[in-house]
Amino acid sequence: MSPALTFLGAAGTVTGSKHLLEDGTTRLLMDCGLFQGLKELRELNWAPSRVDPRSLNAVLLSHAHIDHSGYLPRLAKDGFGGPIFCTRGTADLLKIMLPDAAHLQEEEAEFHNRHKTSRHDPALPLFTTEDADRALGLVRPVDFDQPVAPAPAVQARFTNSGHILGAGFVQCWIGGRHVVFSGDLGRYGVPIMRDPDSVADADVLLVESTYGDRLHPPDDHRDRLVAAVKRAADQKGWLLIPAFAVGRSQEILYDLRELEEAGRIPSLPVYLDSPMAIQATAVYAGHPEEHDSALRQAEAAGKRPFAPRRFHLCRTVEDSKRLNDTDGPGIILAGSGMATGGRILHHLRRWLPEAATTVLFVGFQAAGTRGRLLREGAREIKMLGEVVPVRARIMVSDAYSAHADRGEILRWLKGFRRPPGMTYIVHGEPDAAAALRQAISGDLGWQAAVAEDGQRVAL
Ligand SMILES: [Zn+2]
Repeated sequence: MSPALTFLGAAGTVTGSKHLLEDGTTRLLMDCGLFQGLKELRELNWAPSRVDPRSLNAVLLSHAHIDHSGYLPRLAKDGFGGPIFCTRGTADLLKIMLPDAAHLQEEEAEFHNRHKTSRHDPALPLFTTEDADRALGLVRPVDFDQPVAPAPAVQARFTNSGHILGAGFVQCWIGGRHVVFSGDLGRYGVPIMRDPDSVADADVLLVESTYGDRLHPPDDHRDRLVAAVKRAADQKGWLLIPAFAVGRSQEILYDLRELEEAGRIPSLPVYLDSPMAIQATAVYAGHPEEHDSALRQAEAAGKRPFAPRRFHLCRTVEDSKRLNDTDGPGIILAGSGMATGGRILHHLRRWLPEAATTVLFVGFQAAGTRGRLLREGAREIKMLGEVVPVRARIMVSDAYSAHADRGEILRWLKGFRRPPGMTYIVHGEPDAAAALRQAISGDLGWQAAVAEDGQRVAL
């Protein structure tokens, strides 16, 4: 059988990344992500697997984000026992993220059972903490650019993609073909992460297209952060920053420290109120080999890159709740990033009614989330069984993103020395994927197609 590729997720959508790569003797899965977001998508996680997990030789994992890794516990539960290859940074983040994902699944099942809100009795979690542990036991960490052999006569390696800690492009040589999968592509010239490495060639390329139809705003992304901190100081109120635990929280901490040092903001107490973000920050600090040159210089000068001057960690729920009785000014970073759950909720309930409060959203806010309602100007908001009036100032920074925009994707593609034989566009909403396909065909003159879910293509 000649080598072939089947798109089993993140085709026409941005979650559930899963691509089957096979020849007559070997079957590999590139990424093993969870579908997230709307209910129709989440239900796909419950469909029977379209590939028998026991038939897979190995998984090659681009990075730790749950939409790329979160189905691994289920794969292990359903009989997969092969190695999961990923970089060391990814392996360390998985140790935090997979048990957390399992915990959320268990909580959701328990909620349904308590409130009898599921068609299934009893409602079961998609996977459990034990399944997450089983998957973690299969992880084989490797260095960037270190050749690995996921099966006889097959070679693979990871190349820095600059997206989050540990994130890599997956390069695989199978059946005489060289396949390159971008995973999620990072950005150029942003703090903490190195720029994406360039790749010289590929027979077949899979490229993500999350921002295939958009450019990130050109303004200095720190300006909004400065304005928000200054307002909190002036008003002697709290600045609440809902933030994802992995990646975004570290960027904000890094920026706060840099801005303090540059004298652009006053030094307010900063509370990192998320056990997962605390762990993730330790993982980021523990991988200096992945830091960009500015961050290395700060470390060489003896600085703690992710610690503003008056830095506090809230590990326990009691630490977190104590802030309800503490007056500002100060800054609280807590999850979840879209205010759909997590400790940020009780801070919002307590402080949204106060006009002295500032809330800064620093990430994408999906339709239907509290984050979206607040940024669209809601005057009151439901949370934790109450209707909470909104008198706080709501601010938004759209400049923080871990994904390359259209211009940056094209910049990376221009690094290829010759056009790939074929380019498939994955990991994008239909409009974004179509726009990127047009740019690749039009601007670069390459053969390109938008990948379709379930589609199988010969390589
Ligand atoms: Zn990602």
